[in-house]
Amino acid sequence: MKVLVATEKPFAAAAVNGIKAEIEAAGNELVLLEKYTEKAQFLAAVADADALIIRSDKVDAEVLDAAKQLKIVVRAGAGYDNIDLAAATAHNVVAENTPGQNSNAVAELVFGLLVMAVRGFYNGKSGSELLGKKLGILAFGNVGRNVARIAKGFGMDVYAYDAFCPAEVIEAAGVHAVCCQEKLFETCDVVSLHIPATPETKQSINAALVGKMKKGGVLVNTARKEVINEPELIKLMAEREDLKFVTDIMPDANDEFAKFEGRYFSTPKKMGAQTAEANINAGIAAAKQINAFFKDGDTKFQVNK
Ligand code: NAD
Repeated sequence: MKVLVATEKPFAAAAVNGIKAEIEAAGNELVLLEKYTEKAQFLAAVADADALIIRSDKVDAEVLDAAKQLKIVVRAGAGYDNIDLAAATAHNVVAENTPGQNSNAVAELVFGLLVMAVRGFYNGKSGSELLGKKLGILAFGNVGRNVARIAKGFGMDVYAYDAFCPAEVIEAAGVHAVCCQEKLFETCDVVSLHIPATPETKQSINAALVGKMKKGGVLVNTARKEVINEPELIKLMAEREDLKFVTDIMPDANDEFAKFEGRYFSTPKKMGAQTAEANINAGIAAAKQINAFFKDGDTKFQVNK
C-alpha cells in the first residue's frame, strides 16, 4: 500500500524516520510531500495514495475527489477540524486522529503558565506557591489526566469534573470528583480548562462561572479559545482585580486582555503540543494506526464513524 505523508509544515526528521521505519516494516511504501506551496501539488501526490498522514493540512472534498485510491487519512494530532468528515464518509474514507500523543506536552505547559502566573509574571515581587493549593481540572480526558499526575508532584489538592467520565474513574486516579463545573470553580484556587470546543462548551466559561472563584483565582486555558466568553471575562477581570488568566490560545480580544497588566498572558502562538516528543509520538502513532488498519481492519481511532 502507498502511504503519503503530506505536510505543508513537515514533521521533525526523527519523526519522518520513525514513520518510514514503521510503514516499511509492515511492507508498505512511504511517499513524502513536504513543504508544498500549491494545493495542486497535494492533489497530484494524493492521486494514487492508499493512505494519507497529515498534520494541519486541509483535507476537503477537492482533495478527497482527487484521492481515487484513498482508504484512510490520519491526522497526526488530537484536533481534526482540518478534515471534512462528511466528505470523507461520502468518499468511504476512514478518518482518524492520534489522541493522547501530545497530552503530556500540553499538561507540562499548563504548569509553565501557572508557575509564571502565581509568581507575578516574574515581576521581582513576592509571589505564591502551588503546594497545598486546590487545582480544578475541567474535563478529565488525555490532557486533564496528565495535568492531575503533574499537579500531585507539586503537592496540589486535585479536583476534576467531566461530563462523560464517571466519578469512579476520577477518584481512582486519586482526584476528587465534583458534581459540576460550578462546584469546581467555587472550590479551587486554580482552574485548568481541558474541554473540547463543542456546541455545549463554546462560550461556556463565562462571568457567572469564573466569578465563583475565590480571591486570587487563576484560570488556565490550553483547550480552545472558543470555550471562553471573552466579553464577559474581560468585564469580570475589570471588576475583580484579583483574578488572573493565562492562555495558550490567544483570544480574539487579546488587546483588551493585555490591558490587565500583571494578570494576563497569552503565548504568541499555540504552543501546547509543540515539542519534539509530541511531534514524533503523533507521527509514529499515525503510521502504526495505518498499518493496523491495513493488516486487521482496525478502526479504533476513527472519528467519522
Ligand atoms: P480528550 O478527548 O482526551 O478529552 C476531552 C474530555 O472532555 C473528555 O474526557 C470528555 O468526556 C470531556 N468533555 C467533553 N465535553 C464536556 C463537557 N461539556 N463538560 C465537561 N467535560 C467534557 O481531549 P484532550 O486530548 O484531553 O484535549 C482536551 C482539549 O485540549 C481539546 O480541546 C483539545 O483541542 C485541546 N488541545 C490543545 C492543545 C494545545 O496545543 N494547546 C493540544 C492538544 C489538545
